[in-house]
Amino acid sequence: MQPVRIKVGNDNRLLINWEDKSESKIGLEKLRKLCPCATCMTNREKQSKTYIPLLMENQVKVAKINQVGSYAISIAWKDGHNTGIYEYPFLKKLADD
Ligand SMILES: [Zn+2]
Repeated sequence: MQPVRIKVGNDNRLLINWEDKSESKIGLEKLRKLCPCATCMTNREKQSKTYIPLLMENQVKVAKINQVGSYAISIAWKDGHNTGIYEYPFLKKLADD
């Protein structure tokens, strides 16, 4: 499934329109908390299940979104973190959770 349009809405959510005309909305905070890069994954594994990460304003603001091949996007956050590659099926699953 390919997205036809990806944009950040003014409600702090990522809005994705898919080629089958379905739509996914994912909160930016959720996206950042579940950043799939190796650094963030390792950090999450070290934390206990009850740990609630507090994010700074610039950690949940998107600076730039780049397409990665035909299977993913990478998100650059305002705090400079840009190593997360979000594959389309992952994004779809996040929106459905
Ligand atoms: Zn990360």
